Amino acid sequence: PITTSAPEQGVATHCPYCSLQCAMTLTPREHDTGTVLEVAGAPFPTNRGGLCEKGLSAAELLTHPDRLTTPLVRDARDEPFRAASWDEALQRIADGLTVAQERYGRDAAGLFGGGGMTNEKAYQAGKFVRVALRSASIDYNGRFCMSSAAAAATKAFGLDRGMPFPLADIARADTVLLVGSNPADVMPPAMRWFSAGRERGAQHLVVDPRYTATAAAADVHLQPVPGTDLALANGLLHLAVKHRLIDTAYIAERTTGWPAVRRALRQYWPDRVERITGVPVRVMERAVRLLAGSRATMILSGRGAEQHAKGSDTALAWINLALALGLPGRPYSGWATMTGQGNGQGGREHGQKADQLPGYRMLADPAAREHVAGVWGVDPDELPQPGVSAYEMLDRLGTDGGVRALVVMASNVAVSAPNTAHVRERLRSLDFLAVSDIFLSETAELADVVLPSTQWAEEDGTMTNVEGRVLRRRRAVDAPDGVRSDLAVLAGLAARLGRGDLFADDPRTVFAELRRASAGGKADYAGITWERIEAERGVFWPCPSEDHPGTPRLFREGRGDGAERSSTQGYFPTPDGRARFHVVHHRDAAEMPDDAYPYRLTTGRSRAHYQSGTQTRRTKALLDAEPGPSVEIHPDLAARLGVDEGGDLLLRTRRGEARMRVRLSRAIRPDTVFAPFHWSGDATINDLTNPALDPVSRMPEFKTCAVELTAAPIP
Ligand code: SF4
Repeated sequence: PITTSAPEQGVATHCPYCSLQCAMTLTPREHDTGTVLEVAGAPFPTNRGGLCEKGLSAAELLTHPDRLTTPLVRDARDEPFRAASWDEALQRIADGLTVAQERYGRDAAGLFGGGGMTNEKAYQAGKFVRVALRSASIDYNGRFCMSSAAAAATKAFGLDRGMPFPLADIARADTVLLVGSNPADVMPPAMRWFSAGRERGAQHLVVDPRYTATAAAADVHLQPVPGTDLALANGLLHLAVKHRLIDTAYIAERTTGWPAVRRALRQYWPDRVERITGVPVRVMERAVRLLAGSRATMILSGRGAEQHAKGSDTALAWINLALALGLPGRPYSGWATMTGQGNGQGGREHGQKADQLPGYRMLADPAAREHVAGVWGVDPDELPQPGVSAYEMLDRLGTDGGVRALVVMASNVAVSAPNTAHVRERLRSLDFLAVSDIFLSETAELADVVLPSTQWAEEDGTMTNVEGRVLRRRRAVDAPDGVRSDLAVLAGLAARLGRGDLFADDPRTVFAELRRASAGGKADYAGITWERIEAERGVFWPCPSEDHPGTPRLFREGRGDGAERSSTQGYFPTPDGRARFHVVHHRDAAEMPDDAYPYRLTTGRSRAHYQSGTQTRRTKALLDAEPGPSVEIHPDLAARLGVDEGGDLLLRTRRGEARMRVRLSRAIRPDTVFAPFHWSGDATINDLTNPALDPVSRMPEFKTCAVELTAAPIP
């Protein structure tokens, strides 16, 4: 049962899961067992009342019997947890962080955050590490999500907002190309915009090694070998040049760097690209004519193209194609990346990243340090320099120069990081580990102190969705006794570390400070108030003042970063107002199939589950829909291996092994298997994935590695 003072007509908020942030109404209803919360989709410009099964079942977790409702501590890792007071738990964390810093230096204490945290929590986590700990050691799981696309957008456009236009614009595009993105499964309500476009006669193309539900709804499916999207993009651009389909006026007026790219494209003649990618030349020819032949064309990227050790170069290759066709800034056209986690966009804007300060300012920039330190009331020289990225931090835990005492918030890295068997070993080697979560996750099981945190329906705050639209999360029910928000945790820890005066614990005060800290930055929230979000159904950043309308569409003629500009100031927020082409070349995946590991493994999400599964594996409706893990395998490959539907398969890579049931599917290439990363125990697929990192964004190569497959009964 829950307790609530919510009005009878319900509370308007947004889903706790993915970046679509569907609007929903939470209404208390009396049942035999007490008050329960009824979830219904609400009219909103993104989901128009639609919710997927994850959103519809989200309230199940508010009263789940596994819910943590008291802090847990233990004196030794081989002892069971015991319940503790908040005072004892917070003091132990403060002591653990302090002792590590005294022994090993400031950077030995750190925090690992999450892309599902509200803007206020993400902001406060970054400030806590830089001000209360004065440590460089912070990064978050968004590094594993879309950091390569973010790095590419910053290099090409001078700005990283995943979608530079509203989602509804998809319905107005004449041609849409989706690269490594499967919204039909991962964000089903978004499909209404694709369907509306199709009903208008739009042509849709999907690039994916799997014939996904999204591919099945499209006109053209390009099915490349995993890890060859970059070569495919260059091959399409080669054909566009050859057939004189590029927009020379746009290139001349709005971009720089084209001549070098044009020269580099000579290497991507169609036969060679077909050999690399497996995509037939005739399919590429058809694709490029569709892309270049319409009035309004969009290229939408997803994790399939981005989670590679060449992820940022791959995103740049698709951006090159978009620029050469003259798309960014044109109506219902452009390049965009569809972020995944609930606050994947806002979570990376306010200081959780190792190298960034609020407002998308860079930590190494003296002017940025000066501004943010002024808002925080500290000396700029007190702020640390940039730290290392997420996997690098996890890889070095417990080692010389690495973090020795770690706080993990809203993240289950023991399941979701790459090479997780190694990550779990590193977590065990820490002097001290504290985890804040709603359940005893696989990461929390390894901790010294576990804190029970609030859920989405129990808190106020803001989230920034896939479009860059800032939304209000609203409290509908009271948190159970004994549960606290991470804002209260950070304030409580800061107080014990002697900086309590600088940390508020109520989200409205924190948001007001965030606005000031972001003012003048690229992700400028200065003009966004909670009242405006209510009245305007969300506000798009950049929004530099309260009389600014917000910026639904970026890079339009005569505008740079969204603020009104004269046309002489250019289209893009780069120093010269022009977007940048980049020469990028195909290279093999970090690990290629060989005699010992002859197949390719690719990973991703399935329809009923989400991220590391901490929540969805506990939701009855979702377990009914998808009760367990399975590996998707082509019937021809299954026949060669001697397994059939429902049979057991052992997957082994150089890093680890996992066991899963077989699901036969002609949707997958016969040289590749697909497995979801939502499961733990023997089915922890990230025990197998490759932590090879993109040199620019430090994105790991989740999407392809070499695997050996053996028919073997699951014990
Ligand atoms: Fe929630 Fe995403 Fe499903 Fe919408 S699509 S209901 S935001 S999980």
